Amino acid sequence: MATETAASPLEVGRRALGTLPGVGPALAETLARLGLERVQDLWFHLPLRYEDKTRVLAIADLRPGDRAQVEGVVEAVERGFRYRPQLKVAIAAGGHSLLLRFFHFHRAQADLLQPGVRVLCYGDVRLGAQGLEMVHPQYQRLSGDAPATVEELLTPVYPTTEGLGQKRLAGVIAKALALLPPVAQLELIPPELCAEHGLSSLRDALLYVHRPPADAALGELEQGRHPAQQRLAFEELLTQHLSLRRMRAQVRRRHAPALGGDGSLHRRLLDQLPFQLTGAQRRVADEVAADLASDRPMLRLVQGDVGSGKTMVAALAALAAVEAGYQVALVAPTELLAEQHLRNFRHWLTPLGIEVEWLAGKQQGRARQAAMQRVAAGAPIVIGTHALMQEGVAFARLGLVIVDEQHRFGVQQRLALRDKGADRAQGLVPHQLVLTATPIPRTLAMSAYADLDVSSIDELPPGRTPVQTVAVSNARRSEVIERIRAACGEGRQAYWVCTLIEESEQLRAQAAEVAHAELVAALQGFAVGLVHGRMKPKEKQAVMDAFKAGTLAVLVATTVIEVGVDVPNASLMVIENSERLGLAQLHQLRGRVGRGAIASNCVLLYQPPLGQLARERLQVMRETNDGFRIAEKDLQLRGPGEVLGTRQTGQLSFRIADLARDAHLLPEVQAVGERLLASHPERAERLIERWVGGAARYAQA
Ligand code: ADP
Ligand code: MG
Repeated sequence: MATETAASPLEVGRRALGTLPGVGPALAETLARLGLERVQDLWFHLPLRYEDKTRVLAIADLRPGDRAQVEGVVEAVERGFRYRPQLKVAIAAGGHSLLLRFFHFHRAQADLLQPGVRVLCYGDVRLGAQGLEMVHPQYQRLSGDAPATVEELLTPVYPTTEGLGQKRLAGVIAKALALLPPVAQLELIPPELCAEHGLSSLRDALLYVHRPPADAALGELEQGRHPAQQRLAFEELLTQHLSLRRMRAQVRRRHAPALGGDGSLHRRLLDQLPFQLTGAQRRVADEVAADLASDRPMLRLVQGDVGSGKTMVAALAALAAVEAGYQVALVAPTELLAEQHLRNFRHWLTPLGIEVEWLAGKQQGRARQAAMQRVAAGAPIVIGTHALMQEGVAFARLGLVIVDEQHRFGVQQRLALRDKGADRAQGLVPHQLVLTATPIPRTLAMSAYADLDVSSIDELPPGRTPVQTVAVSNARRSEVIERIRAACGEGRQAYWVCTLIEESEQLRAQAAEVAHAELVAALQGFAVGLVHGRMKPKEKQAVMDAFKAGTLAVLVATTVIEVGVDVPNASLMVIENSERLGLAQLHQLRGRVGRGAIASNCVLLYQPPLGQLARERLQVMRETNDGFRIAEKDLQLRGPGEVLGTRQTGQLSFRIADLARDAHLLPEVQAVGERLLASHPERAERLIERWVGGAARYAQA
């Protein structure tokens, strides 16, 4: 590798990893699984966290909760088999001892850790039954009396894949870093913009995050708040902004069918409604109609609080397409929500003589075939889950795609829909309307949805009464149940939401069954229903229908009711374990009550003691019903203290940026993006290639 020729320094970054010494075809293949194919992909493969192995602590100084490196001499070894195989190794130094505990181990490991052997280990310290212990620490045997050699730098921990250890990966990354071009040549943000916005050198930032010095502020680093990380986060956010704008520009270069009719279907729908559109609905519907009438593809996000009436705006958009002789697809993230739309659309549109097709994932066999044939033959409106987006569903003339609850879809899925093609013969693409009930703070909207125009329905239909919210300790659970009894006695209906946060739908269902049994026993004389995600769609529907019809007084539910359930007579909601939920989800859930003219209540049951964050969240819920305020607060609260490694907001994944933590960077990101596109558009391409790497290349294909 020393024989580099005059290739430009940036070209070095584009070289295949196989050109690095020591990277053979097998390793290159493993790296490719991580999306690492070129030298620069390694430069931008950033650590998830760090380990401090620059110091050796005395066993005497260890505290539970520490993550530390210690040295000691093996005193005793015990192999146990009581419940499962276990290797326990007691080490000691300076009269204090520490237990190392292994549940998976090889014979050789046991043989190596003999009494008298000196070891250096690194791990999490916790308090076990026999005192301080480390479970599965990293360890190495020390020879003779020589003092342990410690690391000079903090040790980065990288995202990796099976069969590729940290040491090996770090080794390859070090080789790639040795090829980093000089400061000025690596920089893609023009120097005048760097100067104006106080952006430090990218090269220094990269070197710092890959190898922080021993005295680096570990706490700051672990939170991603170190200036070097912020410099990288800035560039990553900038790149993401640019790539969304590029996507948008690409779509906008194409043509869509102009969907402007005479508005007669609109008028007929509005005439038959028992209510008037709100001013906000009318304004947003007009914005959408103007987009649809153009032959540029619409890319519009409609945001509006729960209950603001987004579905009606969607229906009006659909009618414009139908009037112009084009098809509409409406896609929702869950079957329950899709069914809700199906019922609303059929209720509104059947009187106008418009058929609405249903196409969902679970539908099989002949019914599915028949529905698909009708869609291929030009059925005007089809509603379903994302099964709609999958292969095999062909449209005759798709003119408009409506996606509900955007936050559950990724950008990629959004793209997949766009590519369904309206009219391949003429090269037209469909218009796209995205609905979301998660209000997005303005700064975030600018970045995360830079490929979309945003309309806000910032007004609720009249006659809604704000929900009164209280937080109540689980110790007063029986009082709450009494309160439900009283409400039901007055003819009101109640939701009881079980929010056990478990990986498996089965456990969640079980928790709901337990709560259901408790309420059935406590509320004799009232019918209590149960709905959870493990039930068949038909069963779910039967329960929901019974609740809607008033046959059931109380509905126990898992968070399957989070979206899309509309029962105006339900005016009381109890949310269990509310301390575990995020603000956005609490707000969504609460939006299921307060839909009618009756005063509604929400009881947030919590399990004490409350942590600081949970306390603040519940406080916000008690203070306001305004989705936008809640969203702003959510962003603010989630900044600090959030678990390390949560890098997802709205399903956009980043290497280092965190939309919640780094939102303060966004206004500048946008400003720099604007200027960069104007003065150096080719650099935008290079930034995208650099940061998005493999993933973007696939998306383009
Ligand atoms: P979301 O924005 O949460 O999707 P929906 O579209 O489900 O809200 O509307 C919530 C409820 O309000 C529905 O029952 C709907 O029929 C009703 N609704 C919609 N617009 C109005 C309006 N302008 N006046 C009164 N009720 C309305
Ligand atoms: Mg809705």
